[in-house]
Amino acid sequence: MNKILYGKSIADGMMRKVAVEITELKKRNTVPLLMTLEVGEDPASKVYMTSQRRNAAKVGIELETIELAEGVSQKRLLGVLDNINRDPYISGVILQMPLPSHLDAKMAQWNIDRFKDVEGVTPYNLGRLFLGVPGLMPCTAQAIAAMIKSTGVDLRGKEVVVIGNSDIVGKPVAIMMLKEEATVTVCHIATDQKGYLEEHVRRAEILIVATGNPSLIKGEWIKEGAIVIDAGINSVDNGIVGDVEFEEASKRASFITPVPGGVGAVTVAYLMKNVVEAVKMQQTENSLGKKV
Ligand code: NAD
Repeated sequence: MNKILYGKSIADGMMRKVAVEITELKKRNTVPLLMTLEVGEDPASKVYMTSQRRNAAKVGIELETIELAEGVSQKRLLGVLDNINRDPYISGVILQMPLPSHLDAKMAQWNIDRFKDVEGVTPYNLGRLFLGVPGLMPCTAQAIAAMIKSTGVDLRGKEVVVIGNSDIVGKPVAIMMLKEEATVTVCHIATDQKGYLEEHVRRAEILIVATGNPSLIKGEWIKEGAIVIDAGINSVDNGIVGDVEFEEASKRASFITPVPGGVGAVTVAYLMKNVVEAVKMQQTENSLGKKV
């Protein structure tokens, strides 16, 4: 029997737990504050910000936004980040992407305080992920791993194929799968250009896709019984679709995520969870002299 993996039930359960933790923090006079920093105007990031605001309100996280002009200099941006880093009332920071092209996005992200890095984008937190040490990890990768776990599958030795190798989705989720002792293949644009995508997809017992290309993965390529996680979000004429041909793929998959209604909802729940984790790290690890 095929099963559609909706994100809502996992997200709702997590949000309830996060809300309880925040109530406890507030009893101890800690009110988590998430600062979002936006440079210029980007319609896609506006949609994500609305969802961040709604979900923060649901769990009792305060959220404030700093808007910087499109033409802001790198120096000024780093100055604003520095102020956020030093502000003891701010628990976490999101630097909304994309940044205008004259800015160095990586350099800006790397200047976020490692214990306020709720999107898990600093080398420190990515290093912790690499080494298997708990920390602030990229939210979409965590969401994907949680959805796979929710199926009850034993990942050990399984053929996991990840399509897309970005720093926020493909690479971190590949590391998470390796930690579970899966056999992991990471494909990307060059795999497609060389014509090898189909053969990798065909042998995937667990397929994770995050590329931003509608219908890139043909339904007929899906291995019978595979678990298919589609993180792609693409705006097309008749709405939002993922990167996988859902209808055909769902005939073959044992579990498959829909788009919308799949990974996205769980991602934002992990963002809220990361705010709580950030507060805990600030309260414990800072006092330990920032040791891992
Ligand atoms: P990105 O542009 O940083 O990376 C895209 C990756 O896909 C690259 O590794 C590239 O090599 C690969 N790719 C591109 N075209 C390909 C092709 N034809 N064949 C194989 N690989 C190809 O993107 P990203 O930030 O990782 O986002 C990817 C997708 O995931 C987008 O649709 C984005 O909207 C979505 N996304 C969803 C969530 C969520 O919460 N659901 C979060 C982040 C990103």
